[in-house]
Amino acid sequence: MVRNVQLRLTLKEEAALNGLQIRTAKYLGLEENSFKIKVLRKSIDARKPKIVFNYKLAVYINEPAPNDTLHFEYKDVSKAKPIHIVGFGPAGMWAALRCLEMGYKPIVLERGSNVKARRRDLKAINQDHQVNPESNYCFGEGGAGTYSDGKLYTRSLKRGDVRRIFESLVFHGATDQILIDAHPHIGTNKLPKIVQNIREVIQHHGGEIHFNTKVTDFVIKENRLKAIVLNKTDEIAVERVILATGHSARDIFDLLHKKDIALEAKSFAMGVRVEHPQHIIDNIQYHCSGDRSELLPAASYSLVEQVKDRGVYSFCMCPGGFIVPAATSPGEVVVNGMSPSKRNNLFANSGIVVEINVDKDIPKYEKFGALKGLEYQKNLERLAFTSGGRTQTAPAQRLTDFVEGNLSADLNPTSYQPGLNSAPLHSLLPKLIGSRLRQGFKAFGDKMHGYYTAEANIVGVESRTSSPVSIPRNEKLEHPVIKGLFPCGEGGGYAGGIVSAAMDGERCAEAAMAGL
Ligand code: FAD
Repeated sequence: MVRNVQLRLTLKEEAALNGLQIRTAKYLGLEENSFKIKVLRKSIDARKPKIVFNYKLAVYINEPAPNDTLHFEYKDVSKAKPIHIVGFGPAGMWAALRCLEMGYKPIVLERGSNVKARRRDLKAINQDHQVNPESNYCFGEGGAGTYSDGKLYTRSLKRGDVRRIFESLVFHGATDQILIDAHPHIGTNKLPKIVQNIREVIQHHGGEIHFNTKVTDFVIKENRLKAIVLNKTDEIAVERVILATGHSARDIFDLLHKKDIALEAKSFAMGVRVEHPQHIIDNIQYHCSGDRSELLPAASYSLVEQVKDRGVYSFCMCPGGFIVPAATSPGEVVVNGMSPSKRNNLFANSGIVVEINVDKDIPKYEKFGALKGLEYQKNLERLAFTSGGRTQTAPAQRLTDFVEGNLSADLNPTSYQPGLNSAPLHSLLPKLIGSRLRQGFKAFGDKMHGYYTAEANIVGVESRTSSPVSIPRNEKLEHPVIKGLFPCGEGGGYAGGIVSAAMDGERCAEAAMAGL
């Protein structure tokens, strides 16, 4: 017999040896060894007065728990019809995997290096302030998803089968804990191996992946994509191309714009990253002082406030994490966040961003047409570069100084490896963003007592939250004018994170294969 059960365990019950088994036995009035448990869902409720662990369980009484080993069937596609995929981020990876499942040969073209070589380039950014425009935190094997936080939370539940992506991640090496946790997370130390496993599966089944291979031009005849140019030299004939180049591939947006291929400006969000000592966030969220219980993960938060008709909200919060330099070209400073699987670093960071309505908020940029949001974004990143000291050192301010309009005499310790430079971000940021952030931070302090503190820094700029450009596509997911071109993932404006990009990759692969 199988019973579905929901239980709440206190910290003490959770800490006890076999605590869940004991509590379940008590709840069902059973002998402790007469059943097997399968955890379906686990979450933590840290609201006052007490922290509880919520469980959803399937309890197998006098019968074994099923062995639901995950399996994905991939075909040998070495001699199959090709689909070309530009970009090997989550969208490109899952497009390629879907091709293997459906018997088509993915040929992936990726401008950056493989995960191993990429590490060298990340070291060069962090230690020598050298940004390689082909291989960095956004470009290279696994895309922006590889050296990311690996939070798998998605709001795109209607866009595809989230569970299938999670199962696929587990199949390729992620812990099966992600199938249970309410806020699943992989961690930047584990992602490269998963990405490498995916590459090996694709190659083993006859797919091709070409690193250091940048698409630099499209050959279009009578509104049909006929060929693509690689590294400015080699032209290869193509029939169907999935364009999964991500939101930082500005040269791709420029190229499409120059070729008069329809693009649209898209609203997006920009702001700063805020960094607190992790213990401050733990103390607020878990109502403790001193160290949190070992059973509790580094605490996170999610904050939102409406300020003068625009949303101000936390984005990509990384408990126990690091702030990283995510620029893709020299001459710009961009920050983002990541964390290891254990989330055991001493800092909590989060993007705090302001919604920007491209049709109303940036009239001076109208002349750039569909690229107006992109130009605005670039401008702010250049400003961060100059005010940071013309290296990857980022401009920063104590949170309270930013809100009160004072230059910080000194800054708090930080996880940001290239270092911080005290700068008057309160006056440097455009009013559209700065004034809303200042009000937003005060309101966040009212919601989370202790959040608004001089012990936090803000670091500029958090500019790559989502694509400021979208590439249109029709109901067949094909560009409405250029036949054979399938805009995909975050760069096209169809995803906002690892899972939604992966789901979009699968959908685009299915669309590209239809009718081939
Ligand atoms: P991308 O991942 O951007 O991949 C695009 C790929 O295309 C890149 O590999 C690039 O090199 C390649 N490319 C670009 N131009 C060309 C060209 N001309 N020719 C050939 N190849 C090209 N999301 C989450 O859901 N959870 C998180 O915790 C999280 N943390 C993040 C932390 C950091 C530091 C960063 C930078 C991002 C984070 N994200 C996170 C966002 C997430 O990584 C992206 O949403 C996701 O990777 C988008 O997938 P994509 O495949 O559409 O594009």
